[in-house]
Parts: sequence; structure tokens; C-alpha cells
Amino acid sequence: MPERDLPPNAIVTYCDRCDRNTVHEVSLELESTTDGADVTAENAKFAKSPARRTVCCVCGARAHRERCAYE
Ligand SMILES: [Zn+2]
Repeated sequence: MPERDLPPNAIVTYCDRCDRNTVHEVSLELESTTDGADVTAENAKFAKSPARRTVCCVCGARAHRERCAYE
């Protein structure tokens, strides 16, 4: 699989469903306990935790960060 055209937010990592390494689109999301509209920066540190979500570009399966490798 050519990797030269990967967008900055894409990584190649293993997909359980595809059973091979595929391109995954990575998005950083803040898991919030509120809607985030009125959370101050100070409170945001406690109300939110960053989570990296990867979605297989081949089959669309979502994976959690633990399954990914920095390769
Ligand atoms: Zn897949």
C-alpha cells in the first residue's frame, strides 16, 4: 500500500476487521462530560480527557488507541 499520499491525520496501523495493516484516519477528540459550550479552560482540564480515535479507511471500523502502533 503506498503511503506517500497519506494525509497528516492518517496512520497505517493494524485493523482487526481487515486482518491487515490499513490506513486509519486519526482524530483527536475531547471526551466531555458537558456540551463544552460553557466550560472554562480551567474546568476543561477536569471535564475533558483527550482521546485519539482511529477509523479504518477500508472498512470503517473504529479502533481505540491501544491497538495502534507508532510505526
Ligand atoms: Zn479495516
